[in-house]
Parts: sequence; structure tokens; C-alpha cells
Amino acid sequence: MAAYRRYQSGGRRILIVSYHRVVGDFTGELQRSIPGLLISQETFRGHLEGLSAAGYEFATIGDALDVMAGRRTARKDLCVVTFDDGYRDVYRYGYPVLKEMGVPAITYLPAALIGTNERFHHDRLFHLLRLAQARGYKPLFDVIPKPSAELLDTVLSGRKRLSAALDDFIGQYSSAALAETIQVLEEKLGPGPDLLPEQGDLMDWDEVRRMVKDGFEFGAHTLGHVVLTHEPLEVVEREVCESKALIEREAGITVRDFAYCNGWYSDDLIRVLVRNGFRSAVTTEDMPNRIGGDPFTLKRKVLWENFSLGLTGGFSRSLTVCQLDDCFGTLGMREPVPGRRPQRLAIPTPTSTNTLRPEGPPEEVSW
Ligand SMILES: [Zn+2]
Repeated sequence: MAAYRRYQSGGRRILIVSYHRVVGDFTGELQRSIPGLLISQETFRGHLEGLSAAGYEFATIGDALDVMAGRRTARKDLCVVTFDDGYRDVYRYGYPVLKEMGVPAITYLPAALIGTNERFHHDRLFHLLRLAQARGYKPLFDVIPKPSAELLDTVLSGRKRLSAALDDFIGQYSSAALAETIQVLEEKLGPGPDLLPEQGDLMDWDEVRRMVKDGFEFGAHTLGHVVLTHEPLEVVEREVCESKALIEREAGITVRDFAYCNGWYSDDLIRVLVRNGFRSAVTTEDMPNRIGGDPFTLKRKVLWENFSLGLTGGFSRSLTVCQLDDCFGTLGMREPVPGRRPQRLAIPTPTSTNTLRPEGPPEEVSW
């Protein structure tokens, strides 16, 4: 299968893997956080070992782009390790493992949130919805805006798992609607210090600079973690241009690589990236990268703890290698979810339900 994938890719496989949070206490964190964003430090190490065992050589995004563009050839299949969102636990638990094993990595930062005490909308919503469940909250739907009411109803009625409902919601509504829902829930459940999740804090600029000094790379992931296909073009331009400038100023590096929030992109968005001096952008489309492929729609495999969970419920090395070799994709047992979406051009109205509902099934985890 690896040979077939190499043939399909045009010579060498170029695998880009994506992680969010590497945690010390997986079982504890599982009670508090979105499961699909988590991987324990041991499993993360197991993945890196599995990747070496599957014949991959770890490379920087720049090396992978050179090979894809035909500027150089690779001796082995390449694997690029990426992190989205700049969670602090990546600095605490992922970075030491990478450093020890000599594995390069790139982290995509939501620039305006770095060094602040803010939490992501998805983490805040997850936390507030869990709180609503735990308190047996009964909402009066007539006084809650429609998007928020729908989300609450779906979760509290148990019609969908919390993370699946949240994934659908984030896939449907703009950043402003998400903020509005957070505000509504906080008003209904508060006041109290427990409304903001403790976990899910982000790196600060000193930590970023320390990683830069050790040769780790950083890319942009918008200013405030905004799904850009949901936003009008003036917002897209600002999020792209200012996130790049802020990371460059704070970290003292050149930023030319981008990660789409939710993995979603449009032709308009790609044009904005090109105009602002970016050379690549990663999606969450789980497909092989081809030699000669588009550097602005790089395919990635999003990984988390249960990706390696064997039949006995523990870490399975053979399953991990099968997954990293993309056996299930090659056999057609798994369908990738496309990230290309229509670009919203009008100014979004937070309470409007007249949104562009994207085609295709919701993704498992794509933030
Ligand atoms: Zn993200």
C-alpha cells in the first residue's frame, strides 16, 4: 500500500500530520476538554516512533514544499509534524519530546490570542455546555437567539454528542454568532469564576521565542481563530495580514505558512494569502499530497489519542502504523472531507440563521 501511495504521489509520500494538544494527564483532561483535540505525551511519542518505523523521515514544511515543487528530491518518504492553535501544553509536553527526538515541527498561531488569558470559542462553548448539562439547566428558548437555542436543545436533549453538536455549530455559524452564544450561556449560567475553562491556555511569546531559538517554526492561524470562509473579505484581509505581521514582530521570524481554521478555504482566501507573501497553507483534508500539488491546499491527517486505540482499549503500535500508512484511506474505507467552501461576501449578521450551510458531512475534529 505504501508503494501504491508513493506511485500515486509521484515518487515519495509527503505526509503532514496535525495535532492540537499534547497533555500530561490524558484521563483527567478527557473529563474537561474536547476529546478530539487531545493526545497524551506517551501516545504522541508512540506516533513519532511509528512514523519512523513506517519509513518516514521528519522534515520541515519548507523541505516538503521543495520536494512537492520538484526543486529537490527526497531520499525517503517525508513527514511534517504540525500543531494548530498554540496550546501551552504543546510547549510543556510536546516540545520536549520533539527536541529529544530531533523532530522538527511547525505550530500555527492565532496571533492575537498568544500571551493572553483568552480561551478559544470552541473550548469556552464546550465548557459552558458541559456546565449546562451538569446543572440540569432548562432554557427558555423564546428569549435565546435561534442559533444558541438550537445548539442548547441538541445538546441538552442528548440528540447528539456534545463535541459532534459543537462541531456542526462551528461549521455553520460565524465567529460573531459563536461569541453571541457564549455571551448568552454566560448570562444564563453565571456569574461565577467557573464560566471560563481552566484548561486550554495558550503559549506566551517568551515560550514561542524559546521554541524559535531551538529551530521550531511558526505559521499563522488568523488573529483570533476565525473561520475565514464565514467572513467578508475585509475581515479575511485583516486576519491574514495582521496575524503574519504580529508573529513576525513578536517572534523575530518570517511567516510564510498558514493553517485554515476548521480546515476551510476558498479561492478568494488563497488569493489573499498569495498577495500577503504566504507560500503555503494546510487544510484538514485527509488525502495524499502529490508532487506538483498546490501548496495552498496541503493535505493533512488530523490525529488524536483514539486514533491509535486498539481492540483492547490500549495503544496499538500496529494500528498506529496502519493509520499512518493510510491503509484505510487506500482501501477506500474512509472518505476525506473536502475543505473548499463558498466564500461569504456579505457582512454576517450574528443572529441570522440565513447562513451558508456547507455541503458534505461534518468533520470529526477540524479546529
Ligand atoms: Zn485551529
